[in-house]
Amino acid sequence: MDDCIFCKIANKEIPSTIVYEDDMVIAFNDLNPVAPVHILIVPKKHMTDILNVEKEDMKYIEAVVEAIQKITKEKGIAESGFRVVNNCGEDGGQTVKHIHFHIIGGETLGGMA
Ligand code: AMP
Ligand code: ZN
Repeated sequence: MDDCIFCKIANKEIPSTIVYEDDMVIAFNDLNPVAPVHILIVPKKHMTDILNVEKEDMKYIEAVVEAIQKITKEKGIAESGFRVVNNCGEDGGQTVKHIHFHIIGGETLGGMA
């Protein structure tokens, strides 16, 4: 999709620090990390948010889960634990309107507010 920053990252039109990639998803370091490990997993198909994933596109969500398993092992946080965050919509604080999942870890995280 034109003018979508995460589509541009997926298409390598703008640079990012890629930590994982397969046919379905790309994962890269968040520009403004909130913890020692802060990675974004982005489906390569443009979908606005978790409310707008069509049935035939659920395979992308499966790919996200597989990527989480691989990346957290690779980063050494699978055992210690981590958080997966998906912000949706205005109250959820979603700033980029292309569905993405944050992997946050590498330290003991504070409790959810
Ligand atoms: P959200 O608030 O869930 O929409 O999160 C968007 C995230 O994307 C924020 O944590 C930003 O720091 C991150 N972000 C925005 N632009 C970039 C970029 N070009 N490369 C990496 N991360 C980015
Ligand atoms: Zn997009």
